[in-house]
Amino acid sequence: MEKREELYAGKAKSVYKTDNPDRFILEFRDDTSAFDGEKKEQLSRKGMVNNKFNAFVMEKLEAAGVPTHFEGLLSSTESIVKKLDMIPVECVVRNISAGSLCRRIGVEEGLELTPSTYELFLKNDALHDPMVNESLAVSFGWASAAELERMKQLTYQVNDVLKALFDDAGMLLVDYKLEFGRSGGEIVLGDEFSPDGCRIWDKETRKKMDKDRFRQGLGDVIETYEEVGRRLGIQFD
Ligand code: ADP
Ligand code: UDP
Repeated sequence: MEKREELYAGKAKSVYKTDNPDRFILEFRDDTSAFDGEKKEQLSRKGMVNNKFNAFVMEKLEAAGVPTHFEGLLSSTESIVKKLDMIPVECVVRNISAGSLCRRIGVEEGLELTPSTYELFLKNDALHDPMVNESLAVSFGWASAAELERMKQLTYQVNDVLKALFDDAGMLLVDYKLEFGRSGGEIVLGDEFSPDGCRIWDKETRKKMDKDRFRQGLGDVIETYEEVGRRLGIQFD
């Protein structure tokens, strides 16, 4: 596969065209950002760790019947993915209260949410990813009602697969964000699943093992991502 021009450089990843018009290369960089880009740092090894973490999770999801964009690893920091027409809406499932939910509703962190909750946010850094809903998404033409229904169903299916995967490895999947896109008339899971876009706690101690370590300055960010990966059986370099 031939790497062609860079199409887009996001906060943590870059997207490249390839000689195949239906395939992109996703490069996972060491750049780490939080609070919509206000806090930024380079964390050595993060690109490699998240690329391999994402590959492992996407393969598990694909095997469970979730259509994903993941085609294969190209290098330690790059993956080949299907080109998607991305939907600018982030889908969040929460199993335990944390983050913006606590700030918005004024509840404490760590409450079990039964059933799990589902929220939509508009991808817009300048507006700090405001919370939206299905009605707004349809009215503004971000996605059709049928597409939004499929995104919700797939986001919950991902929860069933990954909650069990983390639980078996002694961890709690607190919440996570997914992004979807269109390919050949189908809704396909895109972007990434890594500790940058979810919250994972140790089941016994409730130690934070995700990007909150960076957001809250808790230290050992990448060492902890690697520990999560090792517990799941992922091999890093
Ligand atoms: P951000 O854009 O939020 O700064 P990233 O640094 O992660 O985020 O950039 C990666 C970008 O690539 C995101 O905007 C994401 O929506 C987009 N993307 C992810 N997967 C695909 C795909 N398969 N096809 C097209 N774009 C994708
Ligand atoms: N999330 C993300 N990207 C975003 C916003 C949220 O990956 O732009 C993830 C975040 O890591 C967490 C979940 O989505 O796992 C819910 O995030 P929340 O709404 O609590 O916002 P936060 O306080 O993390 O900004």
